Amino acid sequence: MKTRAIPIFLLSFMLLLQGCSITSHTLDTQAAPGKASSSADMERMLAQPGPVDLDTVVSADWTVRLAGLLNLKNPQAIQAGLQDRDEPIQVYAYLLKHPTRGNFLVDTGVSRKVIAKPEDYGLNWLIQRVMHLDQLQVRTSAAEILAPLNGKLSGVIFTHLHIDHIMGLPDIGSGVPLYIGAAEASESSFKNMFVRGATDQMFKGKNAFQKWHFQPDPQGQFDGIVDVFEDGSVFAIHVPGHTVGSTAFLIRTTRGPVLLTGDACISRWGWDNSVEPGDFTSDHETNLKSLKAMKALVARHPEIEVRLGHQH
Ligand SMILES: [Zn+2]
Repeated sequence: MKTRAIPIFLLSFMLLLQGCSITSHTLDTQAAPGKASSSADMERMLAQPGPVDLDTVVSADWTVRLAGLLNLKNPQAIQAGLQDRDEPIQVYAYLLKHPTRGNFLVDTGVSRKVIAKPEDYGLNWLIQRVMHLDQLQVRTSAAEILAPLNGKLSGVIFTHLHIDHIMGLPDIGSGVPLYIGAAEASESSFKNMFVRGATDQMFKGKNAFQKWHFQPDPQGQFDGIVDVFEDGSVFAIHVPGHTVGSTAFLIRTTRGPVLLTGDACISRWGWDNSVEPGDFTSDHETNLKSLKAMKALVARHPEIEVRLGHQH
């Protein structure tokens, strides 16, 4: 009895240290649409107006701790004397209308169903407390964003799979294609053990994920770029660090190019001062490298409008 108990204890301890992936939701064997591209190809197209209509929707107002938005241990933050405090932010969803490929959501915003009964979606008291869910006020739910589309939604594109980016899923139909960066669903971490139940619950009954497999950027500016619709209108850019599969999007809209950073950069101060996000960031050094690569892109092309993860 004793000799068996030790290995089981050790095994459990090792499993605990190793953690788990953020979700056990099914991965489709079919890759997400798109073809490998390069920063040279992407940047060459920026001067021409694009075909995409893009609406930024404020799905919710929220207040969280600054330490989540910014790495307060980054030398820049220390030098500025930043202290942890409450900071107002917003939860966004982006409605992307492509003239031939249809309507897409980038991230989901928030469903009123989740806020009314968080426990039903796996958000236990601990997650609610860590997330400051009581501080979140829905302004436009995912259902309200989608209502004018009469069910015409061709897909949901995720910047990453953290809870605040998937809380609109209960308002989204079960057959809608879901697209993520490769590796996003497979990164193993201890923190995932707290949220995996909720993440799985949000995705219950939904389509399997289709993934973008990023190839190295020939110019070495980014970790990989995919031309999503193969027409140069929407580029998925691999910007790892906040999560291993974090994806930004460069969208050529009718009003000019827009960069959606996702949570590779959450706050305005972080963008202006090149400071990466704080808590809940899996690899700070890699995130900072991705943030600097995005800033360099915008410095080369000041016409790009930047939309950050949670602040204007
Ligand atoms: Zn977020």
